[in-house]
Amino acid sequence: MWYSKSHEDALNELQTNAALGLSDSEVSERQEKYGPNRLEGKKKKSLISLFFGQLQDALIYVLLAAAAVTVLVHEYADAIIILAVVVLNAVIGVVQEAKAEKAIEALKKLTTPRSIVRRNGKEVEVNSTELVPGDIVLLDAGRYVPADLRLITSKNLQIEESALTGESVPTDKDASKVLAGESVPLGDQNNMAFMSTLATYGRGEGVVVNTGMNTIIGSIAKSLNEDEESMTPLQVRLDELGKTLGKLALGITAIMFLVGIVQKRPVLDMFLTAISLAVAAIPEGLPAIVAIVLALGVTRMSKINAIVRKLPAVETLGSVNIICSDKTGTLTQNKMTVVKYYTLDNLVNLDREGDDLTAGKDAEQLIKSFVLCSDATSNGNESTGDPTEVALIVLGNRHRMFKDGLNSEFARVNEKPFDSDRKLMSTLNKEGTGYRVHTKGAIDNILKISRNILVEGKVMTLTDEMKYQILKESESMSNQALRVLGVAYKDVDSLIGPEEMEAGLTVLGFVGMIDPPRLEVKDSIAAAKGAGITSIMITGDHKNTAVAIAKELGIAEKLDEALTGAEIDELDDKAFAESINNYRVFARVSPEHKVKIVKAYKAHGNIVSMTGDGVNDAPSLKHADIGVAMGITGTDVSKGAADMILTDDNFTTIVSAIEEGRNIYNNIKKAVIFLLSCNLGEIVAIFMSVLFSFAIPLLPTQILWVNLVTDTLPAISLGVDPGDHDVMLKKPRDPKESFFAGGAAVRALIGGILIGSLTLFAFYFGLKERGVSIWDSATASDDVLMYARTMAFVVLSTTQLFYALSMRSATKSILQVGLFTNKYLILSIFVGILLQLGVISIPPLAAAFKVHNLPFGDWVLVVCLSIIPLIVNELIKLFRRMGGADDD
Ligand code: ATP
Repeated sequence: MWYSKSHEDALNELQTNAALGLSDSEVSERQEKYGPNRLEGKKKKSLISLFFGQLQDALIYVLLAAAAVTVLVHEYADAIIILAVVVLNAVIGVVQEAKAEKAIEALKKLTTPRSIVRRNGKEVEVNSTELVPGDIVLLDAGRYVPADLRLITSKNLQIEESALTGESVPTDKDASKVLAGESVPLGDQNNMAFMSTLATYGRGEGVVVNTGMNTIIGSIAKSLNEDEESMTPLQVRLDELGKTLGKLALGITAIMFLVGIVQKRPVLDMFLTAISLAVAAIPEGLPAIVAIVLALGVTRMSKINAIVRKLPAVETLGSVNIICSDKTGTLTQNKMTVVKYYTLDNLVNLDREGDDLTAGKDAEQLIKSFVLCSDATSNGNESTGDPTEVALIVLGNRHRMFKDGLNSEFARVNEKPFDSDRKLMSTLNKEGTGYRVHTKGAIDNILKISRNILVEGKVMTLTDEMKYQILKESESMSNQALRVLGVAYKDVDSLIGPEEMEAGLTVLGFVGMIDPPRLEVKDSIAAAKGAGITSIMITGDHKNTAVAIAKELGIAEKLDEALTGAEIDELDDKAFAESINNYRVFARVSPEHKVKIVKAYKAHGNIVSMTGDGVNDAPSLKHADIGVAMGITGTDVSKGAADMILTDDNFTTIVSAIEEGRNIYNNIKKAVIFLLSCNLGEIVAIFMSVLFSFAIPLLPTQILWVNLVTDTLPAISLGVDPGDHDVMLKKPRDPKESFFAGGAAVRALIGGILIGSLTLFAFYFGLKERGVSIWDSATASDDVLMYARTMAFVVLSTTQLFYALSMRSATKSILQVGLFTNKYLILSIFVGILLQLGVISIPPLAAAFKVHNLPFGDWVLVVCLSIIPLIVNELIKLFRRMGGADDD
């Protein structure tokens, strides 16, 4: 039992060293031996099972039944075609599913947790899957424990172990304990840390004792249930639409079958017609196409630094109308530099350049405390840690007060970590024969816990006037967009615990640091505004600092537009929701306030995106419609709770992702409306023929060919249509808006009726050319019918191909959109025509599909007919543009 061994024994047994860690060669040896540190996921479906999965579909059953009937009546060619289509359809389905899955897998890889380990004497960040027993792992708040660890050191370390114990209150950990007994319950093993639990507070180090399936969680969950694959709201709706259409198709088919029998048509013919219609009406390619477009869309988004973790987010993004963003690092560069400091009555402006600065007596104390109370490092070229602290270390370096030197002289013995609720951090360091507490943090909070002040080397009582003076100075720095950080100290005789540190302190003063806004953010905020999206700043920083930066970025104009966390607390939820629209900046807020803010915005029906990076940000990220985590500075918890992760932590990426989300939705819409128009066209052609007792213009095999071969390529191409910047000139989409809003239903109807009528016209023309009236077509000879059907078949497919061109925009003409801007679409049309040509001119195929080759003259007619829906749609768009319509 590792908990019953001292950590020295554990390290020995694992043949490792806490200060150096393992060497590279030891790591690779052990990786060889123990395998990756990963819980076995769900078994991947084999290709075969994916293939059979594709066959479990009502349409396939219809087709298989049709194949059986064709065999019975010795129409073997039909049977072969139908079976080939079934197989082809399943293969396309498998390929698309595999491709979509691969895209999602690749994204998952980008977000695999990483851990900080000590190897070869250096701290490095590695993928958690690469850990081996004996690795030394560093833990801090917000990080998931990457393997089972025997703790070596712990500083106020708390770990939330609900994944294992169900207990949501974090457990205090203590590395120095050695526990006796055979069966200490997990929850009491406080010198251990277990894989998949979460460090919520403090810091610690541990040695990996077990990895992968040998860990406690590995033994409990023999197979890990990954995130459930969720369908996006649109997929759900389209799924329902598909089912409705399927049922409708069956209904119409049944009616037609009856009509046919009344009309005394041969039963076999009627049967085939009914199947034709069923095939025409069921939009079989639709779900696969939507899935592939979404998958390609999220891949495209990952290239612009936005990693979508939950597929529905892609759609929701298009509806976002409020972006709540953290300030530091997201709106600003997070490159802090101290430019001023203040000790009572002494304001010092620092030059940007130059070292070897000298500080007054009080200032020396101020810098010393700041440096000792920081975890960051900086040696001129390289910095690690919190940028706020890096700025302090650099301030020390410039005054030749180096962190290493100070730390060895005044060794740290205890600490109380920073948290964004207190906005303070304290350390206890040796000082002479006793100890000294150094506390830094928000100046208002520092003043609250201080009793004295250091003035010219003397400790004096902190008076109200002094407080006023300090606040006035700090406010003036805040107004210049500087982040103000105060510092204080107190001497104590004995080692004290964290709870005693932050009281009765002596104020030293404060610094002002700049953190310049990200240059590109201003434009993004303006773009978002144009797109009907309001940007909101949320920050732990001081109100005035926040507003100063908000003004620079165009988020707010005046101080009245800012509210502080304390002011939020004074309002009840209802009053807050009522007044929230008056504000653009929320300052000095804690993570709980973020939840309140999200709720208040949502109460107005807004679709809210919220950023977060800290341990406590998970609730607000979950509450938001789109929770956004920071890829660089974000904790594992925030990433786990988020719908989307920004790999560059940049506000601009959110706006770009919204644009991409709007485009993806529009593309799906284009592909779906296109497919539905095509299906409708086929229904119209066949239904009219049955109604007027014509011969059936299209055979089931021909319809199958068009639906599954020539339609699919343009539909997917529409799905990857290049984005249109103009989407950001429109208001966000109302999430309740029907999929068929903005004239989409009318477009599908017009397209469908045109395609259907032209197909019938081609059929009529073919018959007429052979001297048969369409009214007598039911009794026409096979040869004449074959010719007329070829005309109908070719016109149907080419009409659809050309119509796809015009589906790229609901208002812009094909020339405005740029005829060749979607190369895939041009290519699909080209390939579609080639395939169609192949089918009618390669003799075995032509025989199988019961078609003729067409003479050149007929091709001219075909092309003329085929572009009619395209032209009509372009004319409609022209009228719409003249009428001022601009919606998609
Ligand atoms: P945002 O929410 O926009 O990222 P922020 O980074 O300013 O804002 P916090 O990190 O919660 O928010 O910081 C809030 C306040 O806490 C700061 O204004 C500062 O006064 C104080 N603070 C920040 N970092 C430290 C630190 N390392 N030690 C002590 N105090 C800190």
